Amino acid sequence: MTAPELRPCPFCGETDVITIKEPLEKDGLAMVLCLNCYAEAPLNYENGGWNTRADLSQAAIATLERENYELREAVTALQGRLEIQQHNNSVLRTGNIQLQRDVRNATDPFGQD
Ligand SMILES: [Zn+2]
Repeated sequence: MTAPELRPCPFCGETDVITIKEPLEKDGLAMVLCLNCYAEAPLNYENGGWNTRADLSQAAIATLERENYELREAVTALQGRLEIQQHNNSVLRTGNIQLQRDVRNATDPFGQD
């Protein structure tokens, strides 16, 4: 069986990965080692091993990117609602100030503006 082409590290994206052989006392399994973050995973030909992790990682990244987009959209919508609320608060505050002035003028004959 020929060795599959190794995918980039699923943890850091590094393409500089090598296969190593564990010592016999540790099963003597072929492992893949990332030379950047030193993550390792078995090079399991039947189940994909390292490359399967890379595939899962790509799927996880796609999911996270989609969620990130949705969250950004939600934040933008909330910012828009917040701006409207702040505008409404400003209008109400101005109205309250005017109302207080009107009440004061109506009840205090010496306090005319
Ligand atoms: Zn890595």
